[in-house]
Amino acid sequence: MQLDELKAELHAAGFPAFTARQVFQWVYHKNNQDPASWSNVAKAGRERLAALYGLAPRPILERRGDAGGTRKFLIGLADNHRIETVLIPEKGHYTFCLSSQAGCALACAFCATGAMGFRRNLSAGEIVSQVLTLKKELGDYAGRINLVFMGMGEPLLNYENLARALRIVCAEDGLNVSPRHVTVSTAGILAGLDRLEHDFPLVKIAFSLNAPDPLLRSELMPISRREGLVGLLDYFRAHERRQRITFEYVLLAGINDSPAQARQLARLIHGIPAKINLIPYNPNPRLPFRRPDEAGIEKFRSVLLEKGLTVVTRWSKGEDIRSACGQLAVLTEDC
Ligand code: SF4
Repeated sequence: MQLDELKAELHAAGFPAFTARQVFQWVYHKNNQDPASWSNVAKAGRERLAALYGLAPRPILERRGDAGGTRKFLIGLADNHRIETVLIPEKGHYTFCLSSQAGCALACAFCATGAMGFRRNLSAGEIVSQVLTLKKELGDYAGRINLVFMGMGEPLLNYENLARALRIVCAEDGLNVSPRHVTVSTAGILAGLDRLEHDFPLVKIAFSLNAPDPLLRSELMPISRREGLVGLLDYFRAHERRQRITFEYVLLAGINDSPAQARQLARLIHGIPAKINLIPYNPNPRLPFRRPDEAGIEKFRSVLLEKGLTVVTRWSKGEDIRSACGQLAVLTEDC
């Protein structure tokens, strides 16, 4: 709920005008969701608020960490679905990798979440709750956090709840995260991109590309048969943003990792202000893909660099804790 909505609701319920702001301060600024401890709210008000609202973040069912400090959490939803959220330490800040759906309908061939299928959209509360949970893990840390919607699900197919969550997360009264520190990663939903561009022009976009041509992309990412690659790239060319587009490219050995495909990729995105994130595939025993060897990855990268592109290789963090998209939830579903 946004502050204005809560104000109206609490006003109608007979609370003083300032109560909504107090609630926001406790819930978001102090990350305390236990009304019984809200010392500046009258006791009767605290009891009524506790009865009216379910404020506690969803419980952590399982946690795994790796030597590099990446921590992955399996969160239980009220209807027993499970989602993943990941805390990644970076140089000078933390990144929170958030889920937007339980499961995913898009069935990308290389993705554990895609193999799991679609369960349901997350509510705005369930999205924001992940941020509160990860902030609790950081204790008193008050520095910068980046939010990336790269966990389970396609965020732009849950646009209403994503937008509501972003408004709460970015509001000064809410979690006060700069929209410049938020990235929405998408497989390419044109209508959703347009809405995001309109509603949140400062939020960064990452586009999950993964193939240097439309045909291969359609094989790897079935959504590409409906949302054509050429149309999406034309959209990016026509809508120059304040932020560069990040193209994510998961490197799959023998599938999309040859030097010729790197040249093809450079031609494909020519003219779009962009950065390329190369993500060496994080193998999953259930899926028939392999990670290229380091020499192959470096060769691919150097071809793109020769073409004048900005390229970063993102070694997936927490490989040993199965932090590829959806792996923890898929594993525990089978238990
Ligand atoms: S890669 Fe993303 S869009 Fe594709 S199936 Fe996985 S979660 Fe869905």
